[in-house]
Parts: sequence; C-alpha cells; structure tokens
Amino acid sequence: MSTVDDLLARRARHLPQAMSLHYDRPLHIVRGDGAYLIAADGTRYLDCINNVSHVGHANAHVAEAACRQMRMLNTNARFLYAELFDYVERLTDRLPAALSVCFLVNSGSEANELALRIARARTHRRGTVVLDGAYHGNTTSLIDISPYKFNGRGGEGCPPHVQVAATPDPYDGRFRGESSGSDYAQDVTKALERSTQAGHPAGTFITESLLGCAGQVDPPDGYLAAAYAAARAAGAVCIADEVQIGFGRMGDTFWGFETQGVVPDIVTLGKPIGNGHPLGAVVTTPEIAESFATGMEYFNTFGGNPVSCVIGSAVLDVIDSEGLQEHARRVGEHLEHGFADLAKRHQAIGDTRGRGLFRGVALVTDRQTHAPATSLARTLVQQLREEEQILLSLEGPGDNVLKLKPPMPFSEGDADRLLDALDRLLTDQGE
Ligand code: PMP
Repeated sequence: MSTVDDLLARRARHLPQAMSLHYDRPLHIVRGDGAYLIAADGTRYLDCINNVSHVGHANAHVAEAACRQMRMLNTNARFLYAELFDYVERLTDRLPAALSVCFLVNSGSEANELALRIARARTHRRGTVVLDGAYHGNTTSLIDISPYKFNGRGGEGCPPHVQVAATPDPYDGRFRGESSGSDYAQDVTKALERSTQAGHPAGTFITESLLGCAGQVDPPDGYLAAAYAAARAAGAVCIADEVQIGFGRMGDTFWGFETQGVVPDIVTLGKPIGNGHPLGAVVTTPEIAESFATGMEYFNTFGGNPVSCVIGSAVLDVIDSEGLQEHARRVGEHLEHGFADLAKRHQAIGDTRGRGLFRGVALVTDRQTHAPATSLARTLVQQLREEEQILLSLEGPGDNVLKLKPPMPFSEGDADRLLDALDRLLTDQGE
C-alpha cells in the first residue's frame, strides 16, 4: 500500500502547486461510509467537512442507480430520454412554481457561470453586485465576482463592473442589533447606486442566503427581502447560490433562500445535488430563460446526461426515504443547544450560528472586541483530527470559525461526540 509520503511525492510531480490539501500532514483516505471517512491505516474519522456527500459517503442506492444506468445508456440531451424529464420534474417540484425551467450542468461553477450569462442576456448589463467574503466559483467571470478570491492572496482586486456590499453578519459585521437587516440591505442599495455611477449599472445581484466562505453567516431576518426589492427596483436579476446550502441541510426549509422568505429569479445548485458525482443546475423562470434564447445554441456535452439524471433522482430518493431534512432539523437543534451550552463554559466561544447541519462556531480571544482566536482555532482543528478522529475545517476572514457541514446522516451521537471533544479540548487549552 502507498504511504502518505509516496502519494505526496507523486502529487508534487503531477499536480499544480496552486491546489491545496486539508492538514499539513494530509490524510490518505481509502473509503467512505455515511458520515465517516476511513483512512489507509483503518482509522474511522467523523467527517464534519463534506457537504458534497450529502446522503452519505458511498451511498449504496446512489451507487447502484449510477451503475445500472451506465450499463444501459449514457448520451447527451440532443436525444430524448425520459430520465432527464423525470429528474427535472422532481427537482423543479421542490422549487417555487415560478422557477420551472432547468439547465443541467456539471458543477457549481458551471451553474453560476451560466446563471451570470443568463442574467446578462436578460438585462443587457454586465454590472454585478456581490457580498463581501463571497465565493461563487473558479472560472474567470466568477473569480471576478468573488471577493473571497479577488481580495485574497493572489487576487487582482475588484474589477470595475463589480460592486461589493457588506457581509450581512449580525455578530461581527458593520451593523448590529434590531435594524441590522435593513441596514445591510441599505448597503446593497448603495452598491447598486455605485454600479450606476461607475458606468456599469447592475444587471445581477448574486448571493448565498447563508454565507459559507464568509464564515457560516446567517443574515438577519428581512435582509434578503429588502435587498432583492432594491436590486429589482434597480433593474437587476437576483441569483440565489444554493451550491453549499441546498437540499434540506437547513432543516426547517429545503432551500436556503426560504429561510429569508424570498423567491429568487435564478437559483444555482451544485455540490450535494449529485452526492459527489459532477452535477449542477440552474433553475429560472420561463421569461428569463426565454431572454437567453438569443439564437445562439446552448449545448452542454455532459450536462443532463442520463447517468447524472438518475444520480440526481437517487439523491432525492434518499433525502425523502431517510427523512434527511427533518433529521437535519433535529440534529441541528441538538447541536445548537450543545454549542450554546459550551459557550456558557468556554470564553473562547464568541458566537454560534447557522441552521440545521450548516453551522459555525466563532472562536475569539476577547468577547468584547470579537478578536479572532485564529491560532486556537487552528490548534483545535489539528487536535480534533489527531486526538479525537474528527475532521473539521475553518472559515471566515479571521480563519477562526469552526465550520460544520457534515454529510446529512451525521447523527445525534456524532453531534455528542463532537461536542464532548470540543469541551475536552477547550478545557485542556484553559479556554
Ligand atoms: N458557489 C459556492 C457558494 C461554493 O461554495 C462553491 C464551491 N466551494 C461554488 C459555487 C463552486 O462550485 P464548484 O467547486 O462545484 O465548481
């Protein structure tokens, strides 16, 4: 069997330096099982990182559906096959009635890239308003609208057609308290005005409804309704990026945007949609889809192929048959109470946030100033792996937010194991 050193040596020869790994000493994983990853040495790690393996690592129902279809037929959407319509009917049934036209693609980036093209075709405007800290994908156009990248290491700054509004963070952001929802929405209005002044009136307002890369931020109530109203009044189309948060993870709702009571003009889907199979989707209204019918054919070799479609359907089967949305709600509530309880005993916990199985725990050195406890957060992540066999990542501008987005089969027992481990480690650290 290859050792970690063998694999790292091979990686160094053939993979680009720009790609990163989890942990200084990366894990050699050989198998997945539900909410667990099994390393080459047999260690079973509790996985709190992989929201992509939504219905569980190596899910048998999804794997069997994929194998069956691969043995039968795989082709592209220039032919007719029922699997495509069976899937898009099921998918659009889960969305507000207005969102009935679906483009199937192969990743979250592809979904957002296409959504941008559609919004630009609709409005004939390139101007785009985004939220600070956002990440929307790896293509050229998406790096341009991702402050997480263009303001980060290696970034080239904000392009002229893009305006950035504040992260609607009720804990650590610019506005706090009762009126913060409308204050943050007002900041979107200002960004829309700046777009016009800069000569690039906004055609697109794109955001996640809970923000992943910005630090698992759950915006204040009323924020998106007011921000969408402002964007639409300025002539922009509202895109909801559900790549991280969709498919029942919120617990109370199937989609993230529902937590804010809004209906987007375009929704983009990825990651969990195919349980690890490359699949994504853009769903919009017939009117907006019509604006994209400019005469130029849209063709996507792999998007919506029969294998991807049966995988997407199989993921929906499992979400339903195993009641995973309700499970996320229940386990999420258990985590919420558990984190709140930990926060009473550990000063380092400044804020606990999120919904369902999408949560963040902000670690701080000072509860008054909210100064990020970055070094403590990094130590904890390392110790969780080495001493507790729990995999967890960090997020947020201060790299101090423990980010929890496990496969949905993550159980109450798993939650207790994580809570106990954090309690022990924070006590040992004197925090
Ligand atoms: N949108 C969001 C919110 C994401 O988190 C990501 C990936 N981290 C993407 C889009 C891009 O998806 P992909 O990596 O599948 O291209």
